[in-house]
Amino acid sequence: MSEAFFGKIVVVITRFLKIRIKSQNVFIHECNQIDEFRGIRMNVILIILDALRYDHVTKDITPNLIKITEKGAFFTQAFACNSATKLSMPCILSSDKSYDPEKNIAAVIGRHGYHTALIHSNPIVRPYSLGFEETLDIKSSKLRPRRGIWKKMRRKLPSTVVSGMKAVRAALVDEEKFLPYARADETIDFALNWMEDNGDYFLWIHLMDPHIPYYPKETKLDVTRREMIELHDKIIETARGNYQPTDEEIEMAKTLYREDIQEMDVDLGRFHESFDDEDLLIITSDHGEEFYEYGQMSHPGNKIVPELIHVPLIFYGGGVKRNLVIEDYTSHLNIVPTILEALNIPEKLGIGKSLWKSLTE
Ligand SMILES: [Zn+2]
Repeated sequence: MSEAFFGKIVVVITRFLKIRIKSQNVFIHECNQIDEFRGIRMNVILIILDALRYDHVTKDITPNLIKITEKGAFFTQAFACNSATKLSMPCILSSDKSYDPEKNIAAVIGRHGYHTALIHSNPIVRPYSLGFEETLDIKSSKLRPRRGIWKKMRRKLPSTVVSGMKAVRAALVDEEKFLPYARADETIDFALNWMEDNGDYFLWIHLMDPHIPYYPKETKLDVTRREMIELHDKIIETARGNYQPTDEEIEMAKTLYREDIQEMDVDLGRFHESFDDEDLLIITSDHGEEFYEYGQMSHPGNKIVPELIHVPLIFYGGGVKRNLVIEDYTSHLNIVPTILEALNIPEKLGIGKSLWKSLTE
């Protein structure tokens, strides 16, 4: 059999299977409205709020996120597999401790006809874009050169010189350019435009606002941007175990972190207003954050404690019941099997278990 002929057969079989999958979905998800163009295939959006602690999801700090929890299912005892992005992401995307570009949610549902995309501004998540059809890093070109040069210089110079350079950098750096990632307003705008132009998709949106540096657009504190940058350098040194912050510095860090989250929550509210609840939305964070409870700050990835692994987990839309508060223990491992069951894709991926029945029955 010639290669071209074999290729044609594969295309015909694939088309046939796609039609079969669509018609099965119509039967299984009859509660959803049927779109004559898309069948009943719902879009799935996964929003990861990098470094958001569970105890910061409250009516005071995140009123918009709380509104989403009230329209969907909110797990109050959900846990990340680890305490840093690199170690946590495989569980979220592969339901396993390691990430395989062929065995992750994007690769699997991509084979079932979904367009898969990642919108982010965090270079650390780039390895987990393998398996996605489209990766949109909306900040990388601004980020990489500066970090690279600074890191190389810092390694080669004595610490007194490095301290001096930090002070000079703090004085000279363009205030907004200091932020190494895109803020939620920019990322959400980008995502909403992308969603308007696409259909039949699995979209992972990665928001960085709770992550260091704590650098809100506005603060109630009487501190300058330069002082925020100086605090950031101290947080890095504390995370490495080289610095002991004062109580004032810890409180300042907590306030700026909270304000970053409050600003992000406004954009989550905008997202919510535009969201079509026939689609499925999943919101979680990859890990929490430490504020010197155990002698370090941020998330060095070297310990498993509640502040670092207790995370919010929310499912909304796509047939998920409203106003469900689920207090059972669960983990990121269960996200992928839940998505597969929601989409009626009969494939086993990873070691987690589907939560779909508890969300819909
Ligand atoms: Zn992270």
